[in-house]
Amino acid sequence: MNAEEFRRKGKEMVDYVADYLENIEQRPVYPDVEPGYLRHLIPTEAPEDPESFDDLLKDVDRVIMPGVTHWHSPYFYAYFPTGNSYPSLLADMLSGAIGCVGFTWPASPACTELETVMLDWLGKMLKLPDCFLAGTHGLGGGVIQSTASEATLVALLAARCKAIRQAQATNHGLLESEICSKLVAYTSEQAHSSVERAGLIGGVIMKKVPTDNNYSLSGMLLKKMIEEDKAAGLIPFYLCATLGTTSCCSFDNLMELGPICNEENMWMHVDAAYAGSAFICPEYRPLLNGIEFADSFNFNPHKWLLVNFDCSAMWVKKRADLIGAFKIEPTYLKHDNQESGLVTDYRHWQIPLGRRFRSLKLWFVFRLFGIKQLQAHIRKHIALAKEFESLVRADKRFEICAEVVLGLVCFRIKGSNELNQTLLKRITKDRQIHLVPCQLSGRFVLRFCICAHGTESLHVQKAWQHITQLTFELLQEHIN
Ligand SMILES: *Cc1c(COP(=O)(O)O)cnc(C)c1O
Repeated sequence: MNAEEFRRKGKEMVDYVADYLENIEQRPVYPDVEPGYLRHLIPTEAPEDPESFDDLLKDVDRVIMPGVTHWHSPYFYAYFPTGNSYPSLLADMLSGAIGCVGFTWPASPACTELETVMLDWLGKMLKLPDCFLAGTHGLGGGVIQSTASEATLVALLAARCKAIRQAQATNHGLLESEICSKLVAYTSEQAHSSVERAGLIGGVIMKKVPTDNNYSLSGMLLKKMIEEDKAAGLIPFYLCATLGTTSCCSFDNLMELGPICNEENMWMHVDAAYAGSAFICPEYRPLLNGIEFADSFNFNPHKWLLVNFDCSAMWVKKRADLIGAFKIEPTYLKHDNQESGLVTDYRHWQIPLGRRFRSLKLWFVFRLFGIKQLQAHIRKHIALAKEFESLVRADKRFEICAEVVLGLVCFRIKGSNELNQTLLKRITKDRQIHLVPCQLSGRFVLRFCICAHGTESLHVQKAWQHITQLTFELLQEHIN
């Protein structure tokens, strides 16, 4: 494909994408395919000779689209949202064209510098305390990771490194392996599975602290566990608190947990993967209170801020804690500017070496929407969730299972877990809407999360009609 062809086909591709997104609600949200469906639709080998773009595009319709779960359909209510918008798609295209790998400052100065400034913009949108911002001479700063899981792991590894150094400073004979075997990290039993995984990868004990009736982690139980563990000779070093848990969007109590972590010299990481986007609205910002106690904070603009995957924003109070933990200096990555103290080499802030120019997506989205439209997007989703909540509450056959704070509603039929499982199976099989379940206090619960940018009241009303119709049929069968 030469430049001339790219100009033509590129425009066709843009039309294809716009048609896809504009008409997405006409497609069944969940695909009707069996595992292994794709292999027999395409040849067993790559072609020897070039094929035509037109043939390829036809195969996108024949091979790919039948197997796509349409996350941007207004009938998609599963998981949490994943961002999508035209400004973000355009930025991604430019990022692909520049195609730099921005591991150090000279590897592409704009890639590094725009990221630092965008994370400051975003931090200010959230009213993060100044200590998390880079500014011109701050000690903190932001970085784009691929995912919240990586941010949790990076924070845990940095905390581990700090804890090992501190233990060795007070007790010189101690081996790293001895210290590591005593390190304990904590999180709530409602935390995302990636937190437990970070403990496994980091090779430390990860304890799950029970939550209260609101599925929130409070200070008392954490404190008790820390005291017991210290008495047993263990070294508490890390807490991952969650704002907006994946199951039910509950919030851990940072105002209680923060001071405990600070007193115990433990690293507090705050995972707000989904909920973080809402903090750009002043009325939801109080949910972030207590962040001043944290060492690191992370949320995913790629979830709820109209930025395409991947873009997970992470801030640290002391960037030296991250950089100090993972620093390796091969000759081919050294450069003249690094001793000046003026440049950031993001390779020290993350696990991989390579990194894409992802801050372009933030820049395009912030400038082409403006903060006001982004706030309106968040508020609209929350209003739709409240609308769905009142539909559920008005129907005596159903119950709401957790407080509806943002765009997620947890609900179930008053009745057995089996009944609710059957309802979800039928919803999934029908493919008109798509939901996933969660477990709360041993009960099988349906999660209804407002996800797509284009979801309107009409879609939510239709979804509820569909759910109640299936419920009606299900309860009829149970009576007969
Ligand atoms: C979605 C989610 C994650 C995982 O996000 P990734 O970016 O896919 O790693 C982690 N924590 C919470 C609370 C989440 O909701």
